[in-house]
Amino acid sequence: MRVARMPDPSDPKARQRRSIEHWGDQEIAPGERANVEIHATQRADGVDAHIPVHVWRGLEPGPTVFVTAAIHGDEINGTGVIRDLIVDPPFELKKGALLMVPVVNLPGFERHERYMPDRRDLNRSFPGSKQGSMASRIAAVVFREIVQRADFGIDLHTAAVRRTNVPNVRGDLARPEVLRLARAFGTELVLHTDGAEGSLRRTATEAGCPTIILEAGEPMKVEPTVLETAVRGIHNVLIELGMVEGVRQRPHYRAIIRRSRWVRAERGGFLRFHAAPGDLVEEGEVLATNTTLLGQEQARLVAPENGVLLGMTTHPMVVPGDAVYHLGLLDQQLERFEKAVGRVPEDSLHERVRGDLSTSVHVDLVDDEVPEAPASDTE
Ligand SMILES: [Zn+2]
Repeated sequence: MRVARMPDPSDPKARQRRSIEHWGDQEIAPGERANVEIHATQRADGVDAHIPVHVWRGLEPGPTVFVTAAIHGDEINGTGVIRDLIVDPPFELKKGALLMVPVVNLPGFERHERYMPDRRDLNRSFPGSKQGSMASRIAAVVFREIVQRADFGIDLHTAAVRRTNVPNVRGDLARPEVLRLARAFGTELVLHTDGAEGSLRRTATEAGCPTIILEAGEPMKVEPTVLETAVRGIHNVLIELGMVEGVRQRPHYRAIIRRSRWVRAERGGFLRFHAAPGDLVEEGEVLATNTTLLGQEQARLVAPENGVLLGMTTHPMVVPGDAVYHLGLLDQQLERFEKAVGRVPEDSLHERVRGDLSTSVHVDLVDDEVPEAPASDTE
């Protein structure tokens, strides 16, 4: 079997830096902004497909940062974020360069789907290979043309289909430069995970380009407060790296979460939700009531541990095993965060985004007077 020979991404010496000035025949000088088209693949009719990239160079030298979106083709909140940053940037780039890629997974984007047409996950295909599958080839192009030109990366995601996430930044926080980006971005919730094997952010980080992801909102939408959160976070990171002037906006509190788990339905049914993304929950607290279609209570879903809800399903129909809530574990720290959360102003971005996420889903209080399922009639 032939093995594709790619540089070992975990070897920092294997990291090749590519020029920020030269893009094929195109030259982009300091202080210039330009659109570049990267040849990614061909469609079935033989027409070339290109990934559009916006390159913005500051006048002075400095770090290069990539911002990517829609590596999962239906996660388009970040596509809206990048369009806004290109059309109406809230800052002037002084130093370094910004590489903005509104859609990495073009074939998935066109089909409103997370995956590639060959059913592979592009975000498990890095660093890719020129001789590999379509996903692997596109990954190789993105790795070579974007990651290998950058010093830092921010990859924008949403929850998967029929789910939503309160904005949270994720990265391998054991690495000081990743921790620095994650803290600078400024979301209240930060999750430590290495990332899946073959994901863009893990591969880029291991190749010497520290990268974080933002998980926020749901797919197939550009949500106003998610957009605001992402633009503010990217702006914060650029201030931290000295690329733009200004003062970072800090979160009202910061919970660094090192473990998370799913709360799953044990029975089939139709859920009433009692908790929303961003809520702090105590072990044993009722998160949802599982009823029959006629409203009779069958079971209650409770928090298995103290934590904060990172995300939830938006679809109340469940069968046993369906993931209902994603719970970030706070262990013994619940009380400390309860105080901090209590002080977050209602008009803060964090509270506004939480309001937006949960108003699109019906969330109500636990009802202590729910009708029991009627006893079967034995007469
Ligand atoms: Zn994603």
